[in-house]
Amino acid sequence: MQPATQAWGFAAVRLLGTAVTGFGAGWLFGNPFGGLAAALALHLAWVLANLARLEWWLRHRSYADPPDIGGVWGEIIAQIVRLHRRKRFHKQRFVQLMRQLQRSTAALPNGVVILNAQREIVWFNRMAARLLSLRRTADLGMRIENLLREPEFVRYLARQDFSNPVIIRPMTGEDCYLSLQVAPYGDGQLLLLVSDVSRQMRLEAVRRDFVANASHELRSPLTVISGYLETLGQDPALDPDLHAPLAEMRRQAERMTAIIRDLLELSRLEETGEIVGGEPIDVVALLALLRKDTLARPVHPRDVRVRVDSDARLIGDEPEIHSAFSNLVDNAAKFTPAEGSLEMRWWVDEDGGHFAVSDTGMGIPPEHIPRLTERFYRVDAGRSRATGGSGLGLAIVKHVLQRHGATLEVRSTLGGGSTFTCHFPPERIKAQLQPLTSATA
Ligand code: ADP
Repeated sequence: MQPATQAWGFAAVRLLGTAVTGFGAGWLFGNPFGGLAAALALHLAWVLANLARLEWWLRHRSYADPPDIGGVWGEIIAQIVRLHRRKRFHKQRFVQLMRQLQRSTAALPNGVVILNAQREIVWFNRMAARLLSLRRTADLGMRIENLLREPEFVRYLARQDFSNPVIIRPMTGEDCYLSLQVAPYGDGQLLLLVSDVSRQMRLEAVRRDFVANASHELRSPLTVISGYLETLGQDPALDPDLHAPLAEMRRQAERMTAIIRDLLELSRLEETGEIVGGEPIDVVALLALLRKDTLARPVHPRDVRVRVDSDARLIGDEPEIHSAFSNLVDNAAKFTPAEGSLEMRWWVDEDGGHFAVSDTGMGIPPEHIPRLTERFYRVDAGRSRATGGSGLGLAIVKHVLQRHGATLEVRSTLGGGSTFTCHFPPERIKAQLQPLTSATA
């Protein structure tokens, strides 16, 4: 039998024994019910005394031993002691775990800041304190935007798109760059991860400078070589056997000039961050110009169409936007046969402004699409060279779009044509007063 059941059985027998004894004693004195009442009152007093001892012990449990009472009371006390031990064990484990967690996050080479749904600082580790100059007592509970006022970070938080980190240059740090990435979790809380990327940024700057300087230095000798090739090509006394090799040399010199021009353009784009503001660009006129340029190519798709569903202006840098759009249109014209068609489209909706170039050309196998905007990446190197491509066009497009807060979407099927779409955010669109009904050229 279980000790608890035994104890309850014993308590019941004791109560019955007390009642019978009281009743018997009362009967001897001629008042059996008076005897029973007196015995039950005594029993109740004993129960109350035990209850008082138990209550006193519960209040002074931290230093007093449990009262030595047997039976059901002893069982209850044993249960309380067991529960208390278990609670203490779990509490100790939790405290240990918390300490370990705190020690490991403190040892992290990256900064970690926990923000609540109101973006107030709840906790941060030592590295975050060092990198962001946070003070343990003063800055807890402060809104992160009030402490990190760099415009790039404020815009990053407002955009709510935390898929990529943002690089900032803290106002306090000399030549210091920090990468900040927000990871949302739980019920609106945010984890802010901070790392020092100054070294990577310095290396990147060295690489950029090297490419820019090398391209710049190569430009002058190449101009001289191209000039001489041009003059030689026009010389009537030139041996006819040399005509073909000279033409090839001129083609290659032109390619090199195009590569150097694009490399210099890329270095310039990489040097500066996002364009804030800019001029309202007349996209409708720009597309008409691009159509004219495409039709002026020696070989071009038979059908070159422009479809404008909005005359809204695009706010940005006109030469850069022109260069990006013309790169996309050039590609579409280059990789589409003469009997194919090409369409440029501009439209505006609640998501912003969109410019798409669709062609019915050769298309791109799906495995190449994610890598198209890498420098010198070509699906078919031989074909790209034959068409005079530098392999840098889409890298330039990507950079220009990044500087305008825009993204590039590529849809293509092998043999079924391609569509390259630039998506601009709504703040880059300036609506005209007169709404335009769809127009096609
Ligand atoms: P390139 O100077 O070689 O055109 P880009 O960076 O502009 O370099 O394009 C990279 C590669 O993407 C091209 O070499 C080509 O293989 C592929 N590509 C780009 N646009 C198209 C298109 N409209 N149709 C098919 N392939 C394309």
